[in-house]
Amino acid sequence: PTRIGVLAVQGDVREHVHALECLRVQAITVRRPEELDELDGIVIPGGESTVMDKLVRAFGLQGPLQDRITAGMPAYGSCAGMIMLADRVTDATADQQTLGGMDITVRRNAFGRQVDSFEADLSVPAIRDGVADPLRAVFIRAPWVEDVGSEVEVLASVPSSVQGDAAGKVVMARQGPLLVTSFHPEVTGDLRVHEYFVDLVRGA
Ligand code: GLN
Repeated sequence: PTRIGVLAVQGDVREHVHALECLRVQAITVRRPEELDELDGIVIPGGESTVMDKLVRAFGLQGPLQDRITAGMPAYGSCAGMIMLADRVTDATADQQTLGGMDITVRRNAFGRQVDSFEADLSVPAIRDGVADPLRAVFIRAPWVEDVGSEVEVLASVPSSVQGDAAGKVVMARQGPLLVTSFHPEVTGDLRVHEYFVDLVRGA
């Protein structure tokens, strides 16, 4: 069976485990470096990237995770998880580190105070029926992707119907086996983003 880990040091782990189990994938919570060995891919959930980073380092997971990602293990980062997979972060705290892997610059808490949390319908051609049936995206103190490298494929942006400077910002992207979203697909019951990631893991 396909085995996908969910990094379980902090954040909304259960929701991702549930989404993966709905797709009949074996979901494994990961807190120790040895637990990475048996994985075909990993999900890094939303939460708080500064705390997640500290715990990843405290649990001795930073190096082993970076090694697996460098070796090509597929990884999907949502929100704080997207920050963790970014090579560069704007508005990071002074001692904040990331795992990196994806050639993107991410701005933390980018959508600002007035729109702390919001929802938007995204057209996502890469997912099943993703144009005819837009994806309801839930953003919670979300980052956006400020800048992408040449190997990065943009999968979704904030629609122009959203007010302010959020419109047009990149909120879903992929670089080879690495996938990131600013938003939280695990809270809506729509499994299409997880399904896309599972397909990516199976194809890797
Ligand atoms: N603002 C959080 C951070 O900087 C991310 C929020 C989330 O994951 N919902 O890590």
